Amino acid sequence: MKNILSKSDFLKYLQCPKYFWLHKHKPEVLGAQTLDEFAQQIIEQGNEVEVWARKLFPEGVMVESKREQAGVDTKKLLEAGHQTIFQATFEADGFYAMVDVLTWDEAGNYWVISEVKGTTSKEIKREEHCIDACFQKLVMEKAGSKVGQVNLLELNKEFRKDGEIIPKLLIQSTDITQNIEELSGNVEIQMSDALRLMQNSEEPRVCNCIYESRGNQCPAFKYCHPDVPDYSVHDICRIGVSKKKLREMIDNDWLRIEDIPLDYELSNTQQPQVHATITGENFIDTKNIHEELEKIEFPIYFLDYETYPSAIPVFDGCGPFQQVPFQYSLHILEEPGGKLEHREFLHIENTKPMEALAHQLRSDMGDTGSVIVWNKSFEGGRNTELAEAFPDLSEFLHGVNNRFYDLEDIFKAQYYVHKDLKGKTSIKSVLPVLCPELSYKNLNIQNGGMACNSWKEMVFQMEDQTQKNQVAEDLKEYCKLDTFAMVMIWEEVCKI
Ligand code: SF4
Repeated sequence: MKNILSKSDFLKYLQCPKYFWLHKHKPEVLGAQTLDEFAQQIIEQGNEVEVWARKLFPEGVMVESKREQAGVDTKKLLEAGHQTIFQATFEADGFYAMVDVLTWDEAGNYWVISEVKGTTSKEIKREEHCIDACFQKLVMEKAGSKVGQVNLLELNKEFRKDGEIIPKLLIQSTDITQNIEELSGNVEIQMSDALRLMQNSEEPRVCNCIYESRGNQCPAFKYCHPDVPDYSVHDICRIGVSKKKLREMIDNDWLRIEDIPLDYELSNTQQPQVHATITGENFIDTKNIHEELEKIEFPIYFLDYETYPSAIPVFDGCGPFQQVPFQYSLHILEEPGGKLEHREFLHIENTKPMEALAHQLRSDMGDTGSVIVWNKSFEGGRNTELAEAFPDLSEFLHGVNNRFYDLEDIFKAQYYVHKDLKGKTSIKSVLPVLCPELSYKNLNIQNGGMACNSWKEMVFQMEDQTQKNQVAEDLKEYCKLDTFAMVMIWEEVCKI
């Protein structure tokens, strides 16, 4: 819909007018926007929440068509007297809006818009959600409909599944009419500006995004800033929290890390990466690495969980988006130079996996020695939740957390800086640099998002046993490599 301005177009305009213009006039420069497993999961979860939100309105009818036809079909449903419509679509003055749930309020003699959001956050995204809903309301009004109320339908973060899900307990409705009123004037001006820009054939100038760190850049960055190399000052670790430094470097026209003078002052965590890039020499802080490794005690357990974060809880006792651990891999080294043992758990039924997982972990893991993880807040969070759910294992699980050693810390603290790490510290980045003989590339499952999706398909959708067995093997291989990678990385740093 090149000549129509939809809500998602408008949100792009708010992000950056040039981004919006490129999306409308030169979409090819934004590259193929392929979604990774994580992004796909978010979309699927949003769709699931919509399905549950609609259950609050059993009398509702759905506009099944898309684009121009959706407006025609909405009109027909309104003329037929329907008072609750899902995906009601309106087009007016160049704008296009698709309302998640539209209901007629007989007493107020007006329409009520309900925007469904697949989130439980009450504060962080509230303003963004209100802008979304405000756009919908303004388009409906331009199309000649009276809107008297706007609601936000979100997942109730306090909800815990207990048997069959009751939609009105799962979905929380908040009246945001007042917030919308306050935003209306400004949003209307921005909508007109966006429309004018869309109709203008002249490409807008770049915004200030050159001063953003790599993680905050938009898909058009390479097109808008062709002089910025793929590995640049934007990739210096934690440069996003040193905005003043980043600005200074860019204003000095130091785009490559090699352009930075060696005596330029950076933080202790940034300096080693810059130094390694400029000199080509790796930076190894032997003293601090030795001090870190001394914290690790035998027997050593290398632990990794795989989890399934379902927007709509599937198992009793779970809340929205709760990370449900369904698998772990555990490598065990009893003593220096000892034989490396492996234990694992994978839940293959479509039942709640946590109790069996926690009990097997209890029997696989002794009471002493360090537990090495990569990103302790994730594994620690799962243990805390398991401890709450199974009080008989609470002491053990909290004990495991107290025994954690986060191997990523050595890399995060920049005690081991390899020029090829380029400021990255995830296990998927560190492994190929320190142990190039090991790789995820040949595995059928190569990351946590794929593991989660594969498990979901295996337990809830697949019927064929051979297929299920294959996925189970793939999952085991993937998770095993995660902990084996930790073993190998630990061995590498021990050689220092
Ligand atoms: S790279 Fe910057 S200027 Fe270009 S579209 Fe993205 S945000 Fe806008």
